[in-house]
Amino acid sequence: MTPAGLTLPAQAATPIAPSAGTEGHPRRPHGRGRTCVITRRACFSASHVYRLPELNDEDNEARFGRCALEPGHGHNYELVVAMAGPLNADGMVLNLSEVKHAIRRDVTDPLNFRCLNGLWPEFDLTRPEGRLPTTEALASAICARLSPHLPVVAIRLYEHPDLWADVLRGPTSPPMEAFLSIRTHFAAAHRLAREELSQEENEAIYGKCARVHGHGHNYLVDITVRGRIQERTGMICDLAALQHLVQELVVEPFDHTFLNKDIPHFAGCVPTAENIALHIADLLTAPIADLGARLHKVRLQESPNNAAEVYAETAQLGMVPAAMEALAAT
Ligand SMILES: [Zn+2]
Ligand SMILES: [Zn+2]
Repeated sequence: MTPAGLTLPAQAATPIAPSAGTEGHPRRPHGRGRTCVITRRACFSASHVYRLPELNDEDNEARFGRCALEPGHGHNYELVVAMAGPLNADGMVLNLSEVKHAIRRDVTDPLNFRCLNGLWPEFDLTRPEGRLPTTEALASAICARLSPHLPVVAIRLYEHPDLWADVLRGPTSPPMEAFLSIRTHFAAAHRLAREELSQEENEAIYGKCARVHGHGHNYLVDITVRGRIQERTGMICDLAALQHLVQELVVEPFDHTFLNKDIPHFAGCVPTAENIALHIADLLTAPIADLGARLHKVRLQESPNNAAEVYAETAQLGMVPAAMEALAAT
């Protein structure tokens, strides 16, 4: 979950200048002027309750479920701040003590061990534009507080390892737009083989994965949606409805199955991690649009060593996937 060891794709941020001192390029002392993305992680604990004053008790509980129970509940939040810019004469985007100080002053000190409802003006529900302090609304508010002081390009906020929000700064991300990700899992068996090929030919392509009786995985599925953070609810879309969709359309039908035999789509399509991720994207795109959000990404992890990612709207977003990669947690 830490950004340690992250690698940035070459297209992240602005183009990276040639290596210092290579032939034909001026030597840059300590990398000065070359660009880089850096990340900093910070943690805090805070409570919240999802209740809108214009709704009665019954309607609040119908709308927000157990999140509406008073006096509220808490989370151990994990924040990752990505910043970009040219290196200074000391070989840094900016001094890390400056980053730590700004995050502590503007985020962790004001929020740690507090109740988030009403704590910041964004979360003041007596104002018409007030919002509930959801993960995406809090990530957006944190981004707004840090951006005047740090060269923030993206914020990731984990409410839980299975629920996090991303906010990007830049021309491709209008104000108040965010990404929300949920993680779930299912267990299933599969066999990788093309029916038109012989067993020998399949084993030459797929190795042990072509063995005739199949094998299984505990699949992790991350679903990322994109949308505008709504006033009042502070949500991109109804989180409970999104979780229900993923459960009903993916987890229930796929869990404890032999994918090749039990899922009609895989009767004629080899169920590689890539194809499973693509099929999940196809199943979820329209229902998520009906919730008022857009499916951005499906990530299917088959084992700790391999995963497939489908960007459902990459063409529109240009470098966004690369920017999000800067925040990737493992
Ligand atoms: Zn909560
Ligand atoms: Zn497999």
